[in-house]
Amino acid sequence: LGSKISRALQQMSNATLIDEAVLNACLKEIGNALMQADVKVDLVIGLRGNIKKRVNMEEMAAGLNKRKIIEKAVFDELCGLLDAGTEGAKFSLKKGKPNVVMFVGLQGSGKTTTCTKYAYHYKKEGYKPALVCADTFRAGAFDQLKQNATKAGCPFYGSYTVTDPATIAKQGVDRFKEDGRDLVIVDTSGRHKQEAALFEEMREVSEAVRPDLIIFVMDGSIGQAAYDQAKAFKDMVEVGAVILTKLDGHAKGGGALSAVSATKSPVIFIGTGEHIDEFEEFETKRFVSRLLGKGDWESFINKISDVIPEDKQPELLENIAKGQFSMRILYDQFQNILKMGPMSQVMSMIPGFSNAIFPKGHDKDSQSKIKRYMTIMDSMTAKELDETNIKELSKPARLERLARGSGRHKLEVEGLLEEYRRLSKVFSSALKGMKIPKNMKGDM
Ligand code: GDP
Ligand code: MG
Repeated sequence: LGSKISRALQQMSNATLIDEAVLNACLKEIGNALMQADVKVDLVIGLRGNIKKRVNMEEMAAGLNKRKIIEKAVFDELCGLLDAGTEGAKFSLKKGKPNVVMFVGLQGSGKTTTCTKYAYHYKKEGYKPALVCADTFRAGAFDQLKQNATKAGCPFYGSYTVTDPATIAKQGVDRFKEDGRDLVIVDTSGRHKQEAALFEEMREVSEAVRPDLIIFVMDGSIGQAAYDQAKAFKDMVEVGAVILTKLDGHAKGGGALSAVSATKSPVIFIGTGEHIDEFEEFETKRFVSRLLGKGDWESFINKISDVIPEDKQPELLENIAKGQFSMRILYDQFQNILKMGPMSQVMSMIPGFSNAIFPKGHDKDSQSKIKRYMTIMDSMTAKELDETNIKELSKPARLERLARGSGRHKLEVEGLLEEYRRLSKVFSSALKGMKIPKNMKGDM
């Protein structure tokens, strides 16, 4: 998506004369790209209209950076859609009182997994969460929740014998309220489709426990079906927030816009993997940047902040931005990456990075590859580490020496140089149009 939109904008900035027709053509391209990212057709049409209204033809004609102007309009409009009608209405948990939160969604959307992630998230924030299994439909549902709850270190409630979900839900919620738990999470069952039976059950559970918040969980990879699904749930119960799951892998994320517009509720978290901490607070700007393929510098920088001493960060980013991407910087990067944990996730925030050296699901392989590369780099001289000219580095005699010095095969040394060449390109092009804010956390 990102590249398609960039291409449309590129064509536009190449055109010498900006008239209505060129702008329209550009907007059409952008609209197509958004639809391919599963943004609902109606939304795209509205969006195009709004962008047109926002773009000031006079500014454009005056030769200001047209690409920037349109890009900003697209960005702002998408953010606006995600925030629409949800500002101020955002529910927040209250400390010291029992917050009851009920999860709804289709079977397989990720409710049980997400309940646990949610519990774990708030546990880290000092809440005392507890999990209630009101799914009596799916065999093994209670066992799954028990397992998850144990992982999160939370008490749980459920039954193998009681078959009425509303009854169990009520028992569990009452029990945990008595126990002084301040966040009681009710996991419900799902069905494969939006069936009447499911909705009836959902309503009964909701009436029994009177939740403070109902969270609708939706698989983020379902495409254009997102709007209707979200709407069906909203029509039945008072959905107050949305969590999108499975936004790892190849999910395009456009469904978020549909879910917000259908439920008039904010997306509060996204799930980015099966693991308990693959869960992020939703941030509109960050999400839209990702959707547009701008590279997610804010998350990346936050991640970096966790592992690089603060006084070192500006220096590193500055050097990369200046195109002085030397072997030494790459070495530091490798070191940081090894510290950062699941690296396919970190690196997938940067366009062009994820697939080559960090294929999803192969973190172990990538790690040992990186370690081998670092061994080779350990046998480089200081001058070689600071070298930014790839030709200089790949002289045959040097390759031989590095292979011998590190005890690795020459092909592997060549592999490292190839990686360096590629990454140096990725870094410099990624950073070109992208100003890194001085305080590193400013507005995008
Ligand atoms: P439920 O039927 O709605 O309770 O869904 P589950 O929580 O049982 O999840 C269904 C499947 O989706 C499980 O295999 C989960 O591991 C998986 N899953 C849930 N959330 C995510 C996510 O964010 N990313 C990925 N990759 N898988 C997820
Ligand atoms: Mg479940």
